[in-house]
Amino acid sequence: VLSIRAASKTFGSRRALNAVSLDVGRGEMIALIGPSGSGKSTLLRSIDGLQTIDEGEGTITAFGGPVQARGRVSGEVRKARVRVGFVAQQFNLVGRLSLFSNVALGSLGRIPLLRGLFGLWPRETREAAMAALARVGVADYAGQRANTLSGGQQQRGAIARALVQKAKIILADEPVASLDPVSARKVMEILRDLNQSDGLTVIVTLHQVDYALRYCDRVVALKAGEKVYDGPAAGLKREQLIDIYGPEFEDVF
Ligand code: ATP
Ligand code: MG
Repeated sequence: VLSIRAASKTFGSRRALNAVSLDVGRGEMIALIGPSGSGKSTLLRSIDGLQTIDEGEGTITAFGGPVQARGRVSGEVRKARVRVGFVAQQFNLVGRLSLFSNVALGSLGRIPLLRGLFGLWPRETREAAMAALARVGVADYAGQRANTLSGGQQQRGAIARALVQKAKIILADEPVASLDPVSARKVMEILRDLNQSDGLTVIVTLHQVDYALRYCDRVVALKAGEKVYDGPAAGLKREQLIDIYGPEFEDVF
């Protein structure tokens, strides 16, 4: 469902991604790990098309269609992007709007925004948003302003927004980094359930290696912009982790 061919990204003189290739099949759940600054967020943003990769260096396609565009976004690119849902670390909900409105906004492109802001969402959108909120367990908070919700509730709202968009690939950038251990586990379990029950493809960046091993089938590790491990989570050895994170890793694991 996703194919990345030798994608590179340079910021000034720094190479954030160096010829990274990755093929992802339908229904996979992948942990993207690696030290801070290794390029994880850059890779996820590139897959969503939020960020352009270096021109002439590599391609990224989702369901066969390009997600990357320079200048005008074509219908083909828009179609590929809709299938990719991005859940940012900071949730990116509109704080002053209700959780419901935030999720309903995920279906934008097909509904008139202004009507929605006046509470006149089409019934279809309303039902889809409530179903998505229920799916991630926060339907009770639908009417609450997003900036008054806990981090875990906001994170689930952000996942619901991707669901309403009918995304087939969920990209979650450190979805549990700022959560307490119990909320973090719940969010990981929701992602795993969407993967197992609904067949969604999930790519999640994690700092917690133990979560990667517990919830994901496959681990991809980046180090200084290069892919240094790609294989089953179960096959990841301690020495490889030390190689990825450096010798200090020994002290924390
Ligand atoms: P973390 O675990 O801390 O989130 P990461 O693996 O997500 O790290 P990235 O955010 O992808 O790392 O950053 C990779 C490299 O690219 C870093 O060296 C970073 O400083 C650089 N970088 C990322 N975005 C930009 C930008 N917009 N402008 C300049 N440099 C950037
Ligand atoms: Mg990051």
